[in-house]
Amino acid sequence: MNSTSTIGFNINEIREQFPALRRQVYGKNLIYFDNGATSQKPQNVLDAIQQYYTKDNANIHRGVHFLSQQATNEYEVARKTIQQYINAPKSEEVIFTKGTTDSINLIAFSFGQRLKPGDEILISEMEHHSNIVRWQMLCERQGCTLKVLPINEKGELEMDLLDTYLTEKTKLVSITHISNTLGTINPVKTITQKAHAVGAKVVIDGAQSIQHKKVDVQALDCDFYVFSGHKVFGPTGIGVLYGKEAILNDMPPYQGGGDMIAKVTFERTTYNELPFKFEAGTPHIAGGICLGKAFEFLNKLDMDKVLAYEAELCAYAEDMLSTFEGVRIIGTAKKKTSVVSFVVDGIHPFDMGTLLDKQGIAVRTGHHCTQPLMDKFGIPGTIRASFAFYNTKEEIDIFIRAVEKSIQMLS
Ligand SMILES: *Cc1c(COP(=O)(O)O)cnc(C)c1O
Repeated sequence: MNSTSTIGFNINEIREQFPALRRQVYGKNLIYFDNGATSQKPQNVLDAIQQYYTKDNANIHRGVHFLSQQATNEYEVARKTIQQYINAPKSEEVIFTKGTTDSINLIAFSFGQRLKPGDEILISEMEHHSNIVRWQMLCERQGCTLKVLPINEKGELEMDLLDTYLTEKTKLVSITHISNTLGTINPVKTITQKAHAVGAKVVIDGAQSIQHKKVDVQALDCDFYVFSGHKVFGPTGIGVLYGKEAILNDMPPYQGGGDMIAKVTFERTTYNELPFKFEAGTPHIAGGICLGKAFEFLNKLDMDKVLAYEAELCAYAEDMLSTFEGVRIIGTAKKKTSVVSFVVDGIHPFDMGTLLDKQGIAVRTGHHCTQPLMDKFGIPGTIRASFAFYNTKEEIDIFIRAVEKSIQMLS
């Protein structure tokens, strides 16, 4: 493995921290290129999961006893770690959810109650199903209209059209920061400015960006920023909704139950303050604590260098893939990172994925929860290699040889 630190970090030391990267499948060293679906977990996260359930398990926010107070403290420390990481003004603006999908559902349910017939929600053609379907459901219920900003053939948003898509009817713009299928990095700051100019609020789907790129919610000035723990080296079942305090305070609760209340009588219930108003019931305590540990891990990395390194991996893989006849890269935006999606003439993505798997290489094939995007490109799906900072050029070399071999076998 390449241990030169031209990339600003020692890749061997990093890989040491991820035990899953040392395993074999079918007797071959695992090459894990499915980071877009979920990432592997570093040792400090694994240790924290073990520690929590072995020794520290207790319910939070209500116990008088030692363990409960300790768990509460750790859960709230994790919230602060995440707050600082995304540069949110206050930790109360960091709401723990189950993940990106859950965060979007919260916004749609709660913020969405205010929308009226004729109001418009703007998304883009490259959105993940979880940033499409819930808005369709909302539009059906509230009688609003979903509008879709198109992309060009490279997989970039048609920014020239944005001004015509944004009107005084637009109440919400929900856009992915980085596309999970194309790797396109969207100009979310510009979009936010333009959306605010017509009075719309902005949701940024950060499921594919926070693990690749430094995120500063104040610099972006977005109203909401959502992401999943499991894609950012943390556990499954936990995620985050960041929202501006004033907007969150103005929104009704999402779910009702314990922890989210101030006072309950049979006549009337008053609600707890932020963030608890949006965290009904016993939360994923271990998940929250361990997501904090994932961000402690990320805090040791220079994310600008991570972004540059992953873009380099991406370009390296694309350069070599494009030398093969019949290969078409899907998603060739000028600004992209970490994702290489491609199709090969006459070969079904699933067949290629299966052969790569037998060679120890984990990629994803199919529509990647972006069926409308596949329709746009006129393809049933792609083969997607998605990278993290622990991947190497040596792994890509092996992957390229495996793709070449698979093409020979399948054509
Ligand atoms: C994965 C993903 C989601 C959904 O995340 P979940 O963890 O499944 O809730 C949403 N948007 C994008 C861009 C994603 O990559």
